[in-house]
Amino acid sequence: ETSSFLTLQPVPALIGGTVLLETGRTFDVIRPDREAGPKVHSVVSCGPTEATAAVDAAAAALPAWKATSYTERRNIFLKAAELLRQRAEEYTKLTAEETPLDLAFAGFEIGGLAIPQLEETAAVITQALKGEFPRIDASGKRELIQREPYGVVLGISPWNAPFLLALRAILNPLAAGNTCVLKTSEHSPRTNMACAQLLYDAGLPRGALSVVHSSPEDVVEVTRTLIRHPAVRKINFTGSTRVGRLIAAEAAQVLKPCVLELGGKAPQIVLDDANIPLAANNAIVGAFMNAGQICMATTIVIIDAKVEKEFLAEVTKIFRENREALHYYAKGPSQQVRALFSSASAKRASEIVDDTLKQGAQVHAGEPNAVNVEKAQIPPMVISGTKPDMRLFIEEAFAPLLAVTSFTTDDEAVKLANRTSAGLAASVYGSNETRALQVANQIESGQVHINSITVHDHPTVPHGGWKESGYGRFNGIEGIKEFTQTRTITMTQP
Ligand code: NAD
Repeated sequence: ETSSFLTLQPVPALIGGTVLLETGRTFDVIRPDREAGPKVHSVVSCGPTEATAAVDAAAAALPAWKATSYTERRNIFLKAAELLRQRAEEYTKLTAEETPLDLAFAGFEIGGLAIPQLEETAAVITQALKGEFPRIDASGKRELIQREPYGVVLGISPWNAPFLLALRAILNPLAAGNTCVLKTSEHSPRTNMACAQLLYDAGLPRGALSVVHSSPEDVVEVTRTLIRHPAVRKINFTGSTRVGRLIAAEAAQVLKPCVLELGGKAPQIVLDDANIPLAANNAIVGAFMNAGQICMATTIVIIDAKVEKEFLAEVTKIFRENREALHYYAKGPSQQVRALFSSASAKRASEIVDDTLKQGAQVHAGEPNAVNVEKAQIPPMVISGTKPDMRLFIEEAFAPLLAVTSFTTDDEAVKLANRTSAGLAASVYGSNETRALQVANQIESGQVHINSITVHDHPTVPHGGWKESGYGRFNGIEGIKEFTQTRTITMTQP
C-alpha cells in the first residue's frame, strides 16, 4: 500500500474521501526550531463551505456504516493495526518532521499507544454495543434497551500526541456506528491525516470520515459551522481548557453533547515511606517527556517534609549525571534544549517561571539562563519551595517545569493535590499499599497511579478528567458507549 495523499502539497483536506487541494486559501505549519526555516509546509484552509460539505458527506455515508456488522468494523480496525505495524517507521518520521515530537516519543505514540488503541477497541465492540433485555414484568411487558449511534460525530484534536489523539477522536465514534468529521490541529494537519490514510487503506468506507483543516484565522467560524450543522449530533474535543470552554459554549447553543478532554496539572504525592530514587526518577520522566507538553505530565511533587531533602538530592544527582530520564525526553540527541511548539508558549512558560521565582520559589536544578523565547527553548527545571498561590502551582505551563512543595500530614498532601482546578492524572508513592490507596482514594482525578508515572493512557481503561479537565470518557467499553444513545423499547402483547 502506498501512502497516497500524505505526500501531496499543499496538505489537502478530505471531503468524503475526495482529496481537496484548492479552496483559495492556505496556511503554513510553523516550527520555530527548524534549521531549514520555520515553515514546514502549506495546508489547504477550509471555510464554512468545505465544513458543510464534509458533514454532508459524513451524513450521506451514515446509513451504510451504521448497518455494518460489529465483525466488519472489528476487521477494519484489526487490519489498520496490522498496516500501522508495517508503517510505524514511516508515520513516526512523518510526525517528527511536522511537529516538535522527537523520534522516540513519536515512535512510542504509534507503536506503544496507537496500535493497542486499534486492537483493544476492536476487541470490545460487541461487548460495548450489545442490547439488553432487562426484565419481563408481571403484565408480560418486555423491555429492550438498544444502543444507537448519534449520527455524525465531530472530532477536534490537538497537536501534542497528534496521531493517537486524532485516532482516538474518530475510532471510538466509528466503533459505535457513527460517521465522523475530524477537524485537525493547525500544528499537525498532515500527521492527523495519516489516521485517515490508515483507516481508508484498512477498508473504512471513505465517506465515513472527512478531514478538514483550518487556519487560526478561520478556526472559530469553521468550528461554529461544524457544530451547528444539523447532522452533527455529538462533539469530542481534546485540547486546552480555554478552548474547551469555547467549544462547550458553542455546543450549548444548539444543545449538543460534548466529550471534553482538557488540560491537566498532575500532582505526584511522595509519602515518607516511598522509594525515593524511584519517585525522583519517575517525577523527572513524567515532567520532561515531550518537553512537558503532555496533558498528564507530572507538574507538582508534593513531598513529605521528612524526605524532601533526600528527594531533592536525588534530583540533583539525575541532573549531574545527565541521566537518560532527563535528557532523552527533554533534550534532543544533540543535547540541545528542545523547542516547545511555539514561541508564544515558551514566552508564557518563561513568564510563569519568572513570576514564581519572584513569589519566593527557587530553581533547584536546571539552567534558567538557557531560556530562549524566540527559539521556543525552555530548559528542563525543577523549582522548589513552591506554594499553592504561586503561578507554577496553579497554571498548566505545558513546558518542562516541575514544582516541588512539602507537607507534614497525609491529609495536607491530599488537600494540596486537590487545590488545582484540573483533575486528569495524579500519582502517589509509598511502600504501604493500604496507606497509599487511602490517599489515592481521596484525590479528585480521573486517574491515580500508585508508584508509577502520572503519564499513563491505556486503551482498555477509561481516560478522562474531573473538574476543569473535562467530562466524558474515551477508551475501552466506556469510550464506545460514550458515542451511543440508548433507545428503550417496551413491547406489550395486544
Ligand atoms: P488547543 O486548545 O490550542 O487546540 C486544540 C484544538 O482546538 C486544535 O484543533 C485547534 O485548532 C483548536 N482551536 C484552537 N483555538 C480555537 C478556537 N478559538 N476555536 C475553536 N477551535 C480552536 O490545544 P493544543 O495546544 O493543541 O493542545 C494542548 C492542550 O491540550 C493542553 O492544554 C493539554 O493538556 C490538552 N490535552 C488534553 C488531553 C486529554 O486527554 N485530556 C490530551 C492531550 C492534550
